[in-house]
Amino acid sequence: QLEQQQQPTGLYVRVRGMVKHFNTAKGVFKAVDGVDVDIPPSSICALLGPSGSGKTTLLRLVAGLELPTGGKIYFDDLDATDLAVQDRQVGLVFQSYALFNHMTVSENIKFGLQVRKLPVDHDKRAADLLELVQLTGLGDRYPRQLSGGQRQRVALARALASNPRLLLLDEPFGALDAVVRKQLRAGLKEIVRSVGVTTIIVTHDQEEAFDLADQVVIFNRGLIEQSGSPNEIIKRPATPFVMGFVGDTNSVPAGCMLVRRSGFNPRLGKARVMFRPSDIRLSKEYVATLDGQQVTPATVNEAANMGWTMKYTLKFDDDVECEFSVTRAQADKEFKLDVGQRIYVVVPPSAMMEFDETELGSAPII
Ligand code: ATP
Repeated sequence: QLEQQQQPTGLYVRVRGMVKHFNTAKGVFKAVDGVDVDIPPSSICALLGPSGSGKTTLLRLVAGLELPTGGKIYFDDLDATDLAVQDRQVGLVFQSYALFNHMTVSENIKFGLQVRKLPVDHDKRAADLLELVQLTGLGDRYPRQLSGGQRQRVALARALASNPRLLLLDEPFGALDAVVRKQLRAGLKEIVRSVGVTTIIVTHDQEEAFDLADQVVIFNRGLIEQSGSPNEIIKRPATPFVMGFVGDTNSVPAGCMLVRRSGFNPRLGKARVMFRPSDIRLSKEYVATLDGQQVTPATVNEAANMGWTMKYTLKFDDDVECEFSVTRAQADKEFKLDVGQRIYVVVPPSAMMEFDETELGSAPII
């Protein structure tokens, strides 16, 4: 634990009308195209979205590594838009470790303190930080003598050394394997909570974003599609893009039997309709209605064993298919379905969301 008097309070970060255009050979590229975000003090915010959607650019703008084409950044009540990087009190961690290879772990951690001539006991501070990131005893090693995960812990300790009020992380665990990622994620969460630093993390990894963050911001083409708690994003996706990007979805033509019988009224012409597999209800015996809704008959077309889950593909009589998964336990009991079996399906219209395919935005690249 860091000493109490050294404990910084996280910054309140507000981004207003943020725009960043790059001039390229092909013309102006709108990497960030009018973005507002509020990040309360000491909270963790994850920026999530497809590759090239503008997440890193926004992080670099907040860090002061890029200057905006337009818009404002406020740190508490201060207009920080034009503040130099070194005056922003931010700690940075990137995917590439960016440690100094000719310096020991302790020297790496103390580097920022020395540059800034911070009036604290540098050795004690380095020792405290090594303890915080659980690397006690490794201070005299060189980066090459550490594992990838350990190096990222050092990078985190170094970023925290000068008591930043804002911690910015760009795919910090991107180069590490899944097991190490998970461990570091848990460690990071604990550390930023105990230090109280406001944290913004850019990630491709949905699980990471939803596990770590108080607030998840979904980017698409330089714009924010939705910003909210992990629960809000998962339970109440605001746009078809978010629904398609986060979690499993089925996508069927708006004019198909299932949608028509559900009573869902599409507003668009050649639209499609999305719904979560978990919203499918079914009966193995014939019933006219289920949960007060007219059923659509379907045939079990495929049953795939995915290990912990069984994935079923259903085919309706108009050849439209959809999928859903159940846990093994469910598959062994009430959801035991056989290929070729007739079943009767409903999806509540409230669980359906229509979209125009051409409006959906770039395909997620994960
Ligand atoms: P990734 O997850 O792949 O890092 P991202 O969402 O972080 O993607 P950014 O790195 O912010 O995306 O990039 C957004 C877009 O801006 C990309 O298409 C990128 O090519 C472009 N871009 C970024 N920096 C520059 C630059 N200096 N000059 C021109 N274009 C740039």
